[in-house]
Amino acid sequence: MGFDTSGLLPLSDALQGMLEQLACCCDSKQLPLPEALGRVLACDIASPLAVPPFDNSAMDGYAVRLSDLTAGTPLIMAGKAFAGQPYQGEWPAGHCVRIMTGAPVPEGTDAVVMQEETQADGDRITFLTQPEPGQNIRRAGSDIGKGACVLQAGTRLTPREMPLLASLGIATVPVRRPLKVAIFSTGDELKPVGTPLAHGDIYDSNRYGVRAMLARLGCDCLDLGIIPDDPAQLRAAFIHADEEADVLITTGGVSVGEADFTKQLLDELGEIGFWKLAIKPGKPFAFGRLPRAWFFGLPGNPVSAMVTFDQLVQPALAKLAGQRFERPLQLQAVTTEQLKKSPGRLDFQRGILSQGPNGLEVRSTGSQDSAVFSSLSRANCYIVLERERGRVAAGETVTVEPFGGLLL
Ligand code: AMP
Ligand code: MG
Repeated sequence: MGFDTSGLLPLSDALQGMLEQLACCCDSKQLPLPEALGRVLACDIASPLAVPPFDNSAMDGYAVRLSDLTAGTPLIMAGKAFAGQPYQGEWPAGHCVRIMTGAPVPEGTDAVVMQEETQADGDRITFLTQPEPGQNIRRAGSDIGKGACVLQAGTRLTPREMPLLASLGIATVPVRRPLKVAIFSTGDELKPVGTPLAHGDIYDSNRYGVRAMLARLGCDCLDLGIIPDDPAQLRAAFIHADEEADVLITTGGVSVGEADFTKQLLDELGEIGFWKLAIKPGKPFAFGRLPRAWFFGLPGNPVSAMVTFDQLVQPALAKLAGQRFERPLQLQAVTTEQLKKSPGRLDFQRGILSQGPNGLEVRSTGSQDSAVFSSLSRANCYIVLERERGRVAAGETVTVEPFGGLLL
């Protein structure tokens, strides 16, 4: 990983450096379809069926053979075909078959004419239009061919995949076990919610953010609470987490001043790199291996912790969980106000994206201090400002990244 001259590591290098070392660590088993929601597919799913399984009607109307149709001459209705009740009788020349949506088309059908394009006089049906061959027929296999790959390994199952799998008659699916992630917050000043604060204390907010993001990612979370800045307690917590989980994520204690202390401990227990990332917010970041588990040390500042989790930890956890990760969409928008920025780091400013009269517009949520949490809670996107860019004037075009599933 090339540190550049400023000593700050570009985000993309940090991400690549991490992903190169990581591989999926979650084994798999078959689960009944309803229980598989939120899990990651362990294998490609090939369709055991053609969908639709038979040629069927896309409309309520009449199945016809083109050779029977002569302009203006009515056909006699031979019978009816319903969804689930195919027409099974004879189909003599000069006849048509009344057919409902989803019903199998009778053998020999060239087209289905929608009801609205016919006139019925008892059993005598007059066709007001000349049908095209194949019209209103959904062909067997036109949606999914038998044996076709419908979902790839690494897909996380959402409500969108459930009916697709059910339509193929698939009752159980091979999915990976959830990644087990231990978390704790470090800092003598931190108190859990629901307890009073003494002077100098603050509430531990990061753990609630990290827990919530892990829940969104489908991870199992082992919450070890708040660990004070005490070597013996920290050591015990690192060892406990390493024994119990695939991954440990901590917040705090990786910035200058504290890093030496955590660093010493982690150097002794594993191989951890302490990085200074060229991003804002979120400069200090630690990554590496404990004896068994992977370790991610997030900065203590709440906005930095969320942003580094979103940008760096999320793709890493996806890889460990066997999940395909798609980079979030980035769009172009015009900023309606000036944005403060100094060159040197890639900024993930928090913004509000909206539809303006001439296209997408974005404005800042205000103070971009990494301790100001409201800047994140009011935002619906990042304003991603390139590393070497300076102050941005109102009216300039900027890149925005709408918040994805993790933060919504
Ligand atoms: P640190 O990275 O430990 O130096 O912390 C940087 C800043 O983030 C300090 O102001 C801490 O008080 C604050 N901080 C650290 N951990 C948390 C936490 N879990 N919740 C809220 N603020 C925190
Ligand atoms: Mg601290």
